[in-house]
Amino acid sequence: MKQERLTKILLSAVAAALLAAGGIPLYRHRHFQVPIVLGPGVTRIERLSAYSPGIAGTSADTWVFVLEGKEPGGRAVVIADTHANEPAGYLAAMILIENAVPEKGTLTVIPVFNNSASRNTRPGDGYPLYYEIPTEWGPKKLRMGNRDASPLDQWPDPDVYIHYPEKQMLSWIDIRNTNRTWPGRVDGPLMERVTFGAMELMRREKTDVAVDLHGAETMFPVTNCIVAPEKSSKIATLASLTVKAVEGFDNHVEPSPAGFRGLSHREIGDYSTTAPFLLEAPIPFLDQPTGPKTTKLLLDGKDPFLLSLAAKKKLFVSYDESGWPMDKRVGQHLSVTLEILRQFSKKNPGRDMVIRGVPRYADVVKNGIGRYLHDPRKAGSGRVIEN
Ligand SMILES: [Zn+2]
Repeated sequence: MKQERLTKILLSAVAAALLAAGGIPLYRHRHFQVPIVLGPGVTRIERLSAYSPGIAGTSADTWVFVLEGKEPGGRAVVIADTHANEPAGYLAAMILIENAVPEKGTLTVIPVFNNSASRNTRPGDGYPLYYEIPTEWGPKKLRMGNRDASPLDQWPDPDVYIHYPEKQMLSWIDIRNTNRTWPGRVDGPLMERVTFGAMELMRREKTDVAVDLHGAETMFPVTNCIVAPEKSSKIATLASLTVKAVEGFDNHVEPSPAGFRGLSHREIGDYSTTAPFLLEAPIPFLDQPTGPKTTKLLLDGKDPFLLSLAAKKKLFVSYDESGWPMDKRVGQHLSVTLEILRQFSKKNPGRDMVIRGVPRYADVVKNGIGRYLHDPRKAGSGRVIEN
């Protein structure tokens, strides 16, 4: 009897130790804050809950950075971390916040759109919890998130997610995927309230252009492209042709399917006057047949299995020993975004936007992302936001 009790106590202690060893890193990751330096163009910051009160005080609420030009003009919203495991968009958004200076028009940036997902991970796939970008002032440590919001914030999941308001039946997990819950509703599940907040922001501010930054597998046909509905397709085509001719990288246009509901490139256009664009940059890290999911693979995109698949023509992008470095992906996102705004401005005098200070593709490839991320210790008082 005595020995049985001792065994139980010992096993309980082992279980508690395993729980702590596994749980503490996840707890720290969920609460890890990244400093964002407010660049010279940032004139105002607000919370998304200003447009969707149902997310106030929850981990779904997130920062909105507003960069207003001296002259009035058009309005653009850039969204990143809709999928928080596709970090090229997030890094591009950080570069915009820390460097962009609009001379005309207003640029609004939401760098961590799914804040809950950015504090979630995928242990079964061996995701790293953090990655680092080298800068002149030392490495900048960032959270690696997941595709979906954390079940700690929105749970339980249904068997089938019935999209609102189109009633299309989607996979159960998509109820926590902020690229299936557009246009959302004020009192829906938490992630529908997040997308509702962005819709309200765009409707109230009469936003002209929305750019949603993503990454997609090299084995997925919709990669290295701009996804655009009918109302955005002309500008998307002009932007795609211009970056190819002037900056030398491929970025084709994919039509937004009208029958597939819940996606930003579909619902933003259908439920507001805004023209949406979804940008996909290749992310070899997310492909299934790769080696271990290391931070090295996340940053350089080099993988021997993808290389042999490229030789068999199984990939939808060109791929060689140089992989797909993060600098290239972030540079593409910045150049394509600027080109979309320039093409929109040419066609819409009076709603035009002029934005200075943003590096383009060749700059980021040459100098690295770190050159454009600033030292929070040297920022003026009140010019750093923790997120
Ligand atoms: Zn995505």
